[in-house]
Amino acid sequence: MGGTMESLISLVNRIQRACTVLGDYAAADTALPTLWESLPSVIVVGGQSSGKSSVLESIVGRDFLPRGSGIVTRRPLVLQLQKTDLGLQDYAEFLHMPNKRFTDFSMVRKEIQDETDRLTGKSKQISPVPIHLSIYSQNVVNLTLIDLPGLTKVAVEGQPESVVRDIENMVRSYVEKPNCIILAITPANQDIATSDAIKLAREVDPTGERTFGVLTKLDLMDKGTNALEVLEGRAYRLQHPWVGIVNRSQSDINKNVDMIAARWREHEFFARSTDYAHLSSKMGSEYLAKILSEYLESVIKARIPGISSLINRSIDELEAELNHLGRPVAIDAGAQLYAILELCRIFDRIFKEHLDGGRSGGDRIYGVFEHQLPAALQKLPFDHHLSLKNLRKMVSEADGYQPHLIAPEQAYRRLIESALNYFRGPAEASVDAVHVILKEIVRRSIGETQELKQFPTLQAEIAGAAVEALERFREDSKKTTLRLVEMESSYMTVDFFRKLPQEVEKGGNPAASSAERYTEGHFRRIGSNVSSYVQMVSETLKNTIPKAVVHCQVREAKRSLLDHFYTQLGKKEGKQLAELLDEEPALMERRQQCAKRLELYKSARDEIDRVAWSR
Ligand code: GDP
Ligand code: MG
Repeated sequence: MGGTMESLISLVNRIQRACTVLGDYAAADTALPTLWESLPSVIVVGGQSSGKSSVLESIVGRDFLPRGSGIVTRRPLVLQLQKTDLGLQDYAEFLHMPNKRFTDFSMVRKEIQDETDRLTGKSKQISPVPIHLSIYSQNVVNLTLIDLPGLTKVAVEGQPESVVRDIENMVRSYVEKPNCIILAITPANQDIATSDAIKLAREVDPTGERTFGVLTKLDLMDKGTNALEVLEGRAYRLQHPWVGIVNRSQSDINKNVDMIAARWREHEFFARSTDYAHLSSKMGSEYLAKILSEYLESVIKARIPGISSLINRSIDELEAELNHLGRPVAIDAGAQLYAILELCRIFDRIFKEHLDGGRSGGDRIYGVFEHQLPAALQKLPFDHHLSLKNLRKMVSEADGYQPHLIAPEQAYRRLIESALNYFRGPAEASVDAVHVILKEIVRRSIGETQELKQFPTLQAEIAGAAVEALERFREDSKKTTLRLVEMESSYMTVDFFRKLPQEVEKGGNPAASSAERYTEGHFRRIGSNVSSYVQMVSETLKNTIPKAVVHCQVREAKRSLLDHFYTQLGKKEGKQLAELLDEEPALMERRQQCAKRLELYKSARDEIDRVAWSR
């Protein structure tokens, strides 16, 4: 039983300590839910000089807190007690001085005073920023305790008017957390009805389930009076029994009466008292410490599943956010180059998926070849080019002074050559259409490369380099497709003309008498021969232009879209590489925060798992 409890409480202390290191303490307003808030701690509340610090000290069993009359405690003190193995010397550590072990506890007291003054000056000002102190000893039970400035009624010299309210608000901000255990300190020489501690406790914990009533200064009661009404629960009922305490008086403090002597005297006080002897086993600091621990154990046991799921939820959230934020940036040039190449590779893969299928885009290129190009070829104005009027004009121009005798060879050549020129348009248009599609695919692929979002500079550079490469491919593709067209006009398909019926028609002969040299039928035949030749070429180009376009643009984009960029990259120095990988500072900071927190939550989860399994 004892072992389980100690492991539980030390678990809580460990988690709390980890939280504290990360600034995850109660007063910090962070976006993430804090572990702190789901873990119980013990808070000492009461009027000024009611004996709060004294009670804390006697629970701890060490003298280390500033005590005395007037306002002594001016900042919250978060105190973690950790039980150590036998034989180790007791020591204390402040969070603000992580590497200093205090073994002289009077120095701890001095450091609390100094650290208070560092923030508030030597005035009587108060501050809500806590001081974190851990005490390691074999003589303590594992507990987290918080000492707070006392509640007051009026501001004194050096304090602003608002101090009464400020303190009350600060104290309330601690005690209203439903998982804090309230030690409500009331001096026995004061009427319980006027107790500030009880008033505040009742406000935040009306059922009294997390309030422990502590009555101090029993030794200072007027002769002939006693506190049995309160201690036996008749004056003010709480769910937990009231505990009476006798701390050291101011004169004891002045005389340096030590803790052991004080404990003994307290024990004697109850044992020998005629009023309290029957309660003596349930009175005193040691008993208070014991019932506190037992209660804490039950609370933590009940909370483990909740804490566990909070931790797991936080881990999920943090991991999702980290995923979203991307990996941290490499520091040395080699790793940076590697990271950049890796990002390029991811982009390139997505780009290829668009072309090869899997992602949309490639199908639109096929659409250009299947619909746009044939439609453009279909629409070429050959009818006009081969109109009777134009045929006559071209034929006679080609004939010159000597009308053709058998077939107008020159005219055929000219007619075909000028018709073939029309194919330049659809050829160039196909190149441009595919270029537009490829550019759009680059744009989409850039957007779909999640990993690049983190690096706006690199993202823009890669996009720029890809588009530049596409421009080069387009130039090359244009040259190649236009060359296909030119090749058609540089050498005619001889076979085509051999297969034509070789008739020497009458109309074919120059008729000297006629105003018209040739018949209309003759021109129509020429027109129809040219037209079917052009049609044949059109069929050929319909097949070869796509080949040229794919060869020069699509295949090249797949093969070497970023080649030029890689060459440039190779010439860059470390600093330039770093510039490519520059991130928004806010993003970097957020990632660091998340990673740190994730580490904390994971180690907390491991701790919880360990306890859960060992039960
Ligand atoms: P705090 O302001 O509530 O933290 O109170 P302190 O612990 O600093 O105590 C205030 C003064 O009351 C000190 O001088 C203590 O010695 C004295 N005091 C506290 N508890 C007792 C007690 O039980 N008996 C006697 N005689 N004096 C006490
Ligand atoms: Mg105090």
